[in-house]
Amino acid sequence: MDLLNLIGGRWVEGDGEEFADTNPARPSEVVARGRFASAAEVERAVAAARAAAPEWAAMPHHARAAVLVAAADLVDAAADEWGAELAREEGKTLPEAVAEVRGSARILRYYAGEADRESGEIFASPRPGENVLVVRKPIGVAGLITPFNFPIVIPAWKIAPALSYGNTVVWKPSSLVPLLAYRLAQALTSAGLPDGVLNLVYGEAEAGSAIVDHPGVDAISFTGSTAVGRAVIARCGELGKPVQTEMGGKNASVVLADADLDHAAEQVCLGAFRSTGQKCTATSRLIVASPVADELLERVAERAARLVVGDPLSPGVEMGPLVSSAARDRVTSGVARAVDEGAKPLAGSSPYDGEGWFVPPTVLDLPGTGVDFWRTELFGPVVGVVRASGTEEALGLANLSDHGLSAAIFTRDLGVALRAVDRLDVGVLHINSESAGTFPYVPFGGVKQSGFGPKEQGRAAREFFTHTMTVYLGAPA
Ligand code: NAP
Repeated sequence: MDLLNLIGGRWVEGDGEEFADTNPARPSEVVARGRFASAAEVERAVAAARAAAPEWAAMPHHARAAVLVAAADLVDAAADEWGAELAREEGKTLPEAVAEVRGSARILRYYAGEADRESGEIFASPRPGENVLVVRKPIGVAGLITPFNFPIVIPAWKIAPALSYGNTVVWKPSSLVPLLAYRLAQALTSAGLPDGVLNLVYGEAEAGSAIVDHPGVDAISFTGSTAVGRAVIARCGELGKPVQTEMGGKNASVVLADADLDHAAEQVCLGAFRSTGQKCTATSRLIVASPVADELLERVAERAARLVVGDPLSPGVEMGPLVSSAARDRVTSGVARAVDEGAKPLAGSSPYDGEGWFVPPTVLDLPGTGVDFWRTELFGPVVGVVRASGTEEALGLANLSDHGLSAAIFTRDLGVALRAVDRLDVGVLHINSESAGTFPYVPFGGVKQSGFGPKEQGRAAREFFTHTMTVYLGAPA
């Protein structure tokens, strides 16, 4: 399949380097091909977005919403086909991939619904006959940069609010997953999106930087690693450009002595190994109350060892490969370093050989929190365990991280659960469910090194994709 960039409403081949989108389960298989956009084409994309901005912003919110609903219908109709494509290019299992595609349709519908919700506030005035209105306006041209691990749902949760609130978009998806980016753009253009409102440019770091730097781009929304996110924040700071970044995590699950251990073991494994551990909210640290540690770890290790790993398109497969050889090397060397530092593998010690970027689901019993594994996001199916003497120590260990994206706690004690709500420094907390998982209608995002700027999803997205204007509406004299 040949992929094209979308610039000013035209599908164009791209004047930049050629790229091949390959199947991580069988790297010799090319899923799609295309060419990156050149610097001149990124310029044209920004110019097109600027030119389209006034008319799109002036269009009634309900007319913009109608395009999103029509696109959602197209995405839903293609969910099985595009889900299979997603599994082939990214490596998550077919059921997860189809669910992701359907999730992106739900997000498009949710933000279409914003047209029916209040769009400002009215305050009284001490001056007779006057009211004070707070109205919402689009920010203009939004530059969107997205990661590889959710090829359609993360783009949807940026593009849908951006468009719904009246902005135009220049979007650079991850170069590892260009096919699903093409599909989402296709759905939106087929749904009647006017020319220039969404521009899709393929490229790597250089294209991302060009969008961040461009004076014609009014604001940047980025999701990806903390290292790149911090560079984007710094650059936007220099330019005085509004920025929203959702970044890496090192998420903890805490299992206390009163927890249902079967349920906790199941949820910890879902959090650690679903999507091959390539979720920003994946569980990578497990903190267990000492009295139940051996019992829990036996269950977690046993579940990890019997997970079916293989081609994500094959029925019954529960975990696919990592996305790339670089990801595989990062995970295997991170595990080897942890073992050198004294970690004991409870599951998944031997690497895979053969084709594909597979690694085994891995459980590491850590010698303490001083190891590199405790601090560094590996972004793979690896969970490292430490023991805690009680609730306070467990919560303290969960907070012992520069990251603060998500956490999970397993307990039957409501008082302890509320204590965790008070104590834990994270953007998302799951009580008695795995650390990953999010609904489109509630805020999503991290604290500390995991997030910067307004949160995404739900009405929180409005904080980034609009600005307020305060209007003192006096009666005519
Ligand atoms: P990444 O390497 O940081 O890349 C993210 C995006 O930024 C890609 O499109 C990438 O392009 C682009 N990029 C790279 N260098 C850039 C630069 N200097 N300027 C502008 N753009 C640049 O992240 P990833 O490997 O795709 O995704 C995994 C990471 O994302 C993990 O750390 C994960 O925790 C995090 N994540 C966070 C969330 C969240 O909501 N908090 C959600 C999902 C993922 P190319 O890759 O094409 O070069």
